[in-house]
Amino acid sequence: MKQGNTLVIGAAGQIGIELVLELRKRYGNEKIIAADIRPAPDSNNEDGTFEILNILNDDELRRIVKKHSVTRIYHLAAMLSATGEKDPMRAWDLNMNGLFNVLELAKEGIIERIFWPSSIAVFGPTTPKVNTSQNALCEPTTVYGISKLAGERWCAYYNQKYGVDIRGLRYPGLIGHRSAPGGGTTDYAVDIFHKAVNGEKFISFLEAETRLPMMYMEDAIRATIEITEAPKSSIKIHHAYNLAGIDFTPNELFKAIKLRMPRFEMSVDPDFRQSIAESWPSSINDNDARTDWGWQPSIDLDLLVDTMLDALSKKKSESETLEA
Ligand code: NAD
Repeated sequence: MKQGNTLVIGAAGQIGIELVLELRKRYGNEKIIAADIRPAPDSNNEDGTFEILNILNDDELRRIVKKHSVTRIYHLAAMLSATGEKDPMRAWDLNMNGLFNVLELAKEGIIERIFWPSSIAVFGPTTPKVNTSQNALCEPTTVYGISKLAGERWCAYYNQKYGVDIRGLRYPGLIGHRSAPGGGTTDYAVDIFHKAVNGEKFISFLEAETRLPMMYMEDAIRATIEITEAPKSSIKIHHAYNLAGIDFTPNELFKAIKLRMPRFEMSVDPDFRQSIAESWPSSINDNDARTDWGWQPSIDLDLLVDTMLDALSKKKSESETLEA
């Protein structure tokens, strides 16, 4: 199939905003179509096509794919872990039926390749927590994790049965400065930087010593594009690869920020997200991704903290100048 344009569904979200920017930088604005159920921030609208799309509306999805000659889809629209626990049936409906609509297009040969993200949420309390391997036991206890695990099995099924070319990653918690996180259990690791830069005290909704796998957004976007563009022959896992960057606790992140901002303070007030976090691994083994398609993370905790603080401080002083 001749490669056409690329559609990013969920383009107004935490990852979508950054993925669209990077894809447009690499391939040109006209090649990358952004779509979401809600409008994207101006930066994503100005430089290319943006379509309002409810992924559950199959006719609308097909209309947009045809209109823009789309042959590749990054399907990011989903309800995340913390929000999903508040509305389990809606989370299941969106996370599963949205994926089916995209998989069916590939089964029919309209789409040649799909990227779909899974999550460390596929693991559960029975999974070994440290250096969790690709094939570790997956008994998730959140509706989000159950939907991601079911999604993985369906991706493998569409690959085996119909030859659909699917590329997937089990993202850890992602940290970036361009957009607000979308209701996940690792959101604290973004919020803490906003509080630090605004000179406010941070109250962590996770216990200070809860260790989780995390990754800076730039690494996650690079991994997403690298796996999607890897030669077909290098992809051995057709549901989702484990992906690791760094791992830390709220306390370690707090200390790294305090080293740079000595007046910063943190206290803890755990909520329902604590038990979700406790059901997940604390670190991930991503040897398969490294071996099969050459994954290498590049951003450690110090670089992450420096980059987040610099970027958010710059944003703050720009908005203060505008207001003055
Ligand atoms: P997000 O909540 O920030 O973005 C999701 C986007 O999907 C939102 O802009 C939302 O408006 C859109 N959306 C919701 N319902 C829709 C619908 N019916 N039709 C079209 N669009 C719809 O989430 P994110 O953090 O950007 O996550 C993107 C993907 O990555 C998700 O599949 C998520 O499960 C996965 N993931 C994210 C993380 C993380 O730390 N952010 C970790 C693991 C996996």
